[in-house]
Amino acid sequence: MSKLVFYNSLTRQKEEFRSINPGEVRLYTCGPTVHDYAHIGNYRAYIFEDLLRRTLTFFGYQVKQVLNITDIDDKTIKKSREQGLSLKSYTDTFTKSFFDDLKTLRIEPAEVYPAATEHIPEMIDLIQKLIDKEHTYTADGSVYFKISTFPDYGKLSNIQPDQLISSARGDSDEYEKEDVRDFALWKAWTEDDGDVFWEAPFGKGRPGWHIECSAMATKYLGTHFDIHTGGVDNKFPHHENEIAQSICGYGGPFVDTWLHCAHLMVNGEKMAKSLGNFYTLREILDAGFSPRVIRYFLLSAHYRQQLNLMYDPETGSHDSFNAAASALERIDEFKAKLADMKQHSAAGDLISRKTIELLDHSRIAFKDALANDLDISGALGVVFGMIKEANKRIASGELSNMDAQAVYERLLRWDEVLGVLEPDQTDEIDAASIEALIAERNQARADKNFARSDEIRDQLLADGIIIQDTPQGTKWRKK
Ligand code: AMP
Ligand code: ZN
Repeated sequence: MSKLVFYNSLTRQKEEFRSINPGEVRLYTCGPTVHDYAHIGNYRAYIFEDLLRRTLTFFGYQVKQVLNITDIDDKTIKKSREQGLSLKSYTDTFTKSFFDDLKTLRIEPAEVYPAATEHIPEMIDLIQKLIDKEHTYTADGSVYFKISTFPDYGKLSNIQPDQLISSARGDSDEYEKEDVRDFALWKAWTEDDGDVFWEAPFGKGRPGWHIECSAMATKYLGTHFDIHTGGVDNKFPHHENEIAQSICGYGGPFVDTWLHCAHLMVNGEKMAKSLGNFYTLREILDAGFSPRVIRYFLLSAHYRQQLNLMYDPETGSHDSFNAAASALERIDEFKAKLADMKQHSAAGDLISRKTIELLDHSRIAFKDALANDLDISGALGVVFGMIKEANKRIASGELSNMDAQAVYERLLRWDEVLGVLEPDQTDEIDAASIEALIAERNQARADKNFARSDEIRDQLLADGIIIQDTPQGTKWRKK
């Protein structure tokens, strides 16, 4: 069996993955700050994490994933107050939209979605531990983590302490910190916070951003767990701070493997709210691209490589999504062909030796690619290689209906990881009414009533049904 290998950001090398408990993986994923609608750059991170989760399952692991919802920070407080809404009613809109988007993009649900505001006691408890162990100091009612008490600080991001001082100096006036590298665990209440505060033994206030992930990961996954993920921008300071808090508060070890995905870029720049170069999922859907196409695009490049979006609604350039759409079309057409052939296979038919060889070879190559640090390009290369070879055999009459059935099943098995195929048509569509419309269209054509036959074709297309006239009659499939 192929062994899973991941590039661990902490050690900066590829390592064979071994879970702490056999057969089980505990995984923590930094989730969204629900101050606005997420953009598709964010979804690149969640799709990478979905690929990871599905791959772990494919390799036989039971996965327990925790994905947090950051429903309190400077931005959520500021924006909710500007709109005269309570923090909760303001963030609820974006939390709901996030869950809708996950479903749309077929991102498999995590086991736990803890919200920060529902875990304040756990955070207070961790801060108290850090205070008791003398890793903190208080200034103006806020509690800061004292980085000089944790010599390993900077190990994950490979940032030297002096680099930190010079790069962070810009915002050093913001807080009354002893050292610019120190970060807030608890922020004292100010008037700008309005009714957003909690009482803690160390004063009235609210948590800093980083503490929630340490407290919630530990609550649901224990103090020592297998994998922690996020986008590269999370490495420093967020994950570096998490490591410091968790190890100093609960005692080490904390996380064995850290995985970070590279950014989705637009014209060489990171897609980000602050740069204004972002698209929400809704915008891309409204431009006419299906969720599957968007998923395929975001999935199709290796997670540690930047992915550049070539898309400009103003000039009408949709290259990235068009390329994804045509790749999917090739898979869809192939699948439809197989679906048609397999209907004619009969019980007792045998699969040919040549097909078995093709399937065996492809199965191993697909798994090996994923095992190699989630090499998705390699895995998709195997899928298209098999399609090409099988198409050749169909054209030369070498692929029997039973062979087609076996290839079809292989495709479905792979889709447990990819999640891009359309579900079987009969599951959702009223096949009888489609057949009836096709029969009517054929009659219209026979009567040379092309206006009506075109109308029926367009009507079917609007319902997501593509029809194709072949020597064997009219075939249909879902878009
Ligand atoms: P945020 O809501 O800003 O905390 O971000 C949620 C997740 O999206 C984090 O894991 C970020 O690292 C990730 N992220 C933000 N922008 C991008 C981008 N352009 N490409 C990939 N991931 C991103
Ligand atoms: Zn986090």
